[in-house]
Amino acid sequence: MILFKSGAELAFHLQKKHASGSRIGFVPTMGALHDGHLSLVRQSRSQCSLTVSSIFINPTQFNDPRDFQKYPVTLEKDIYLLEKAGVGALFLPEVEDLYPGGLQDLEKYDLGRLETLLEGKYRPGHFQGVCQAVRRLLDRVRPDDLFMGQKDYQQCLVVRRLLDLMSSSTVLHTCPILREADGLAMSSRNMRLSESERKKAPLIYQSLVQIKTGWQEGRPAGSVLEQARDLMSSEGLRVDYVEIARSADLAPWHEGDEGMAVALVAASLGEVRLIDNMLL
Ligand code: AMP
Repeated sequence: MILFKSGAELAFHLQKKHASGSRIGFVPTMGALHDGHLSLVRQSRSQCSLTVSSIFINPTQFNDPRDFQKYPVTLEKDIYLLEKAGVGALFLPEVEDLYPGGLQDLEKYDLGRLETLLEGKYRPGHFQGVCQAVRRLLDRVRPDDLFMGQKDYQQCLVVRRLLDLMSSSTVLHTCPILREADGLAMSSRNMRLSESERKKAPLIYQSLVQIKTGWQEGRPAGSVLEQARDLMSSEGLRVDYVEIARSADLAPWHEGDEGMAVALVAASLGEVRLIDNMLL
């Protein structure tokens, strides 16, 4: 695995690889890696001849500065895991490399309603920040395939939109959510949970399972959601939202809607905010 600090050097290296026929898969991350991240690498390796990954904790996507400061960093272990997983090139940019003009007055993307719904509503500016970083990473890597996790469902829709806005030929693959044995979705943030919070965190998954069961039994969405909210609140989780939406665009689900629905949750335990979702 070759490590790159410089975006220009990475781009030069990958242009040569492309020219010699490599199919390039890209797995962007913010580090503190777990098996969910590594499942994206495995997916990329099964489809591409060269897998590139990045570790970059993007300051522009944190609406809460404490969340940014406390974001876990486990760089040495991450490098070891990515090398073992078969990543060919790892990009470790500094903020100045991706944002040479500083962090003020950055470009804005037209994300439509995706920006004001769900995560967009609770984390103002978050998805603009995601797009600013992903755009800069894509400009340097120029991958054939991009692998991202369904865990961040709305982020996948936002990045699909970004690729459209960029008229990019990169193909986005949305990969399944990896979970711990008790159902908790793997997340870098899980390591910040205390022992007692960690025991309660699987309630998010249990709520989603309950919603799915109720949904399949044909119960009204309102009562299914209320029951799920109660289940989480009763154990002290602070629920930002628990909703059923159209999987294609996350518009609120209305009776009679066609197509697939998705249930989405955001809830906090102590200082740690967790998200999860399940296709119904
Ligand atoms: P992050 O480091 O949190 O920015 O995540 C990097 C990528 O890993 C994103 O595309 C996430 O959606 C994906 N990811 C995070 N958690 C999981 C998980 N539990 N299963 C699968 N993919 C995940």
